[in-house]
Amino acid sequence: MSRVVCKFGGTSVADAGQFRRVRTILEGDDRRRVIVPSAPGKRAKSEAKITDLLYVCHDMAAVKANFSQPFEEIRTRYLDIARELSLVTDLDRRFDALFDQLKRGTTRDYAASRGEYFNGLLFAAYLDAEFIDPQEYITILPTGIVDPITYAALGARLADLDRTYVVPGFYGRDRQGNVKTFSRGGSDISGAIVARSINAELYENWTDVSGFLMADPRIVTNPNPMQEVTYREIRELSYMGANVFHDEAIVPVIEASIPICIKNTNNPQHPGTRIVAKLGEDVIKTTEIAGIAGKKGFSMICIEKSLMNKELGFAYRLLGIMEGRGISVEHCPSSIDGINIIVESKYLQDCSESVLDEIRRVLQPDSVTLEGELALIAVVGEGMTHSIGIAAKVFAALRDANVNVRVINQGASELNIIVGVVPEDFERALRAIYSAFVKPN
Ligand code: ASP
Repeated sequence: MSRVVCKFGGTSVADAGQFRRVRTILEGDDRRRVIVPSAPGKRAKSEAKITDLLYVCHDMAAVKANFSQPFEEIRTRYLDIARELSLVTDLDRRFDALFDQLKRGTTRDYAASRGEYFNGLLFAAYLDAEFIDPQEYITILPTGIVDPITYAALGARLADLDRTYVVPGFYGRDRQGNVKTFSRGGSDISGAIVARSINAELYENWTDVSGFLMADPRIVTNPNPMQEVTYREIRELSYMGANVFHDEAIVPVIEASIPICIKNTNNPQHPGTRIVAKLGEDVIKTTEIAGIAGKKGFSMICIEKSLMNKELGFAYRLLGIMEGRGISVEHCPSSIDGINIIVESKYLQDCSESVLDEIRRVLQPDSVTLEGELALIAVVGEGMTHSIGIAAKVFAALRDANVNVRVINQGASELNIIVGVVPEDFERALRAIYSAFVKPN
């Protein structure tokens, strides 16, 4: 029998009512056999997420402050769920133990991981499923990426097709066996790892929206939903700020070509968005672009030097300076006598002058300047490779909206067109591009 892995995000598992919804969803399809829950998220905008409260407890404990108040808030959230669902558990005792552990001193990762751990225990009790502790099976490398030995080990542990398993998200172990978490929002990654380990037929990612929208609804009014999108498109979009799905979570499922479906726990009938290796013919025919995303907070270093093109290793030495300083380079557009480096502004916050000085010293350019705040917008779509006029539409829209384009970049994969604009023009530019491609719905 083929199986479906279901990851439920924080708001999907925030209280007993949500637990009931999850059960109904699981009962709706017998293939939904492996569940990956997050820690309870917010029930209301003003409320804190459990994971954040756990970080607070850890940080207060570390300076010997009294963390009883946030700790009791956490305990109450879990015990309320258990009581409302009439679950008999030993959670209260486990919370006493955690309180002592935090007082004695734990790692931050361990403290944060307990959110998913306790929720996993509750879910296993509620669904009468087997609880699998990721600390035993998911190994995370020092780089924060999963160790591939995980797949065989976890796959073997989840082999019984007749059972239902609960594998909490967000954490695993380091090579020494200590609890280690992924980056924030990392339960998406856990779900992908579990799906890959059991070679699932489908990875369902249940959240609080009905799939991806073609643009950020805070900027574009009522954007269209995406029906189907490729792994590559979604990685590009989530990296550029569309945040429904963790951008690292695609990687484990790509190799096994496992489709992902983003679904809404509070509207399960909605088809959501499917993420696939290759678009269906009907989708290719009807969509020019997959979506538009963008972020503020970039800076551009502009370097000019006559005959730069003749100087062997110029770009190599420039990128070496960035590497030496631990600065990650986003884009690197160039011309015959000029090269620009676009980086996140945070990297230059306290050291922009010394970076420019090092460039002057090592590369002896004619000029080097720093262009402060830049916003980047990515127009993404596999269809670009074989459609004529996409770029023309983007730039005509920007011209009509009176937006000055500071920089243009198109990835070699022809998957995106990236434009850089000043932050004041960001929202206007995004709206203009969106309306050029999508008719109002
Ligand atoms: N609970 C973790 C976080 O808030 C992981 C997750 O929900 O995906 O980041």
